[in-house]
Amino acid sequence: MVVPPPCRHAVTMPDNRPDTSPETGPDTGPDNGPDNGPIPPLTRHLLDRIAQDGPLRLSDYMADCLLHPRYGYYTTRDPLGAAGDFTTAPEISQMFGELIGLSLAQSWLDQGAPSPFTLAELGPGRGTLMADILRATRGVPGFHAAMTLLLVEVSPTLRRAQKATLKGQDVAWRDRLGDMPDAPLFLVANEFFDALPIRQFVRADDILWQERRVTAQGTTLTLGLTGAAPEPALAHRLGDTKPGDIVETCPAASAIAAQIGDHIARHGGAALIVDYGDWRSQGDTLQALRNHAYADPLADPGQSDLTAHVDFEDIATAAAPACHSLLTPQGVFLERLGITARAQALAARLTDDALSAHVAAHRRLTHPQEMGTLFKTLALYPKGHRPPPGLEPAKHDSA
Ligand code: SAH
Repeated sequence: MVVPPPCRHAVTMPDNRPDTSPETGPDTGPDNGPDNGPIPPLTRHLLDRIAQDGPLRLSDYMADCLLHPRYGYYTTRDPLGAAGDFTTAPEISQMFGELIGLSLAQSWLDQGAPSPFTLAELGPGRGTLMADILRATRGVPGFHAAMTLLLVEVSPTLRRAQKATLKGQDVAWRDRLGDMPDAPLFLVANEFFDALPIRQFVRADDILWQERRVTAQGTTLTLGLTGAAPEPALAHRLGDTKPGDIVETCPAASAIAAQIGDHIARHGGAALIVDYGDWRSQGDTLQALRNHAYADPLADPGQSDLTAHVDFEDIATAAAPACHSLLTPQGVFLERLGITARAQALAARLTDDALSAHVAAHRRLTHPQEMGTLFKTLALYPKGHRPPPGLEPAKHDSA
């Protein structure tokens, strides 16, 4: 999601909440908020959880907001594009998916063109990236014949969009990566990890941390802090933080990265992970986007896209024993793969508005003030091999 730096956080709900949940009708019942307006069902569900179990971890709040089976943001809509809340690199230009596809296909060739292999995507949105990958790799001899396509998608709405985009392809869908066939795995994840639920901790004095949790004041959601306690997952952050600093963890990202790394180390393959974030995240990066503008992450649960910066060090560490590349800005990655030559070739067939849009899309993907620097690329790959083209190996003690 192309956004300026994160902002946070007003903690009260706006007075005039638009009630756009599809199933609010009979469910809103007699519940009324402070303004006597109806409380949307997801807010009521969250208030009930807090009343029952106490303040919620941000990760539980975020998971409900994004993925609640009836009211979650992703469950109920297609958030991409001009009519949605944000746009992504594959939606901006076909060049993004074409170059990713060719990089993965070259990596497949470099590993001896194994057959069969799994071509997987995490969080495929509208299926646009996979469609561009498949079109670009059609000319790679044996690639399509050897591949089994696997898409990991929780949203029924987006699965329908993917089915339409990838019509005619033999595709298996899953809710989570789960057990994969004992075959090399070539995987792409663009703007997937930023949607995974995070936890936030505030460094207390000494070596203790307080967790930020979502609590309620009346029917208003607000943030509170737990008592100070040790947090083993943050032992490595004691050296670079001071009291008052906020640090985020993303348990789901670590678990998924561990699974991918383990599979690639054992069976071969490569993963290309593209997202916004940094090697090591610091500070409060949770943000909400609605209609291409910032929103309050605690207001109107389920109505805005919630994301946080990706901590790539965490992914690389969890993915060991797979090797990881140097973390590389998206603009540099795409330039190394030849996006300028590809842009010129496509430009030759375009005129007027289409040409201007194409030039703007090229700039948007690569320019440091647009997506070129904020977004980064990390590859995971097996020992004894090189990362996919466009990326350099990081120095590994074990390599
Ligand atoms: N990769 C696409 C879409 C990015 S939006 C693109 O670049 O355009 C995030 C995607 O991840 C959506 O498809 C969303 O439904 C999916 N998603 C979010 N959380 C998920 C989860 N926990 N498990 C599986 N898919 C998830």
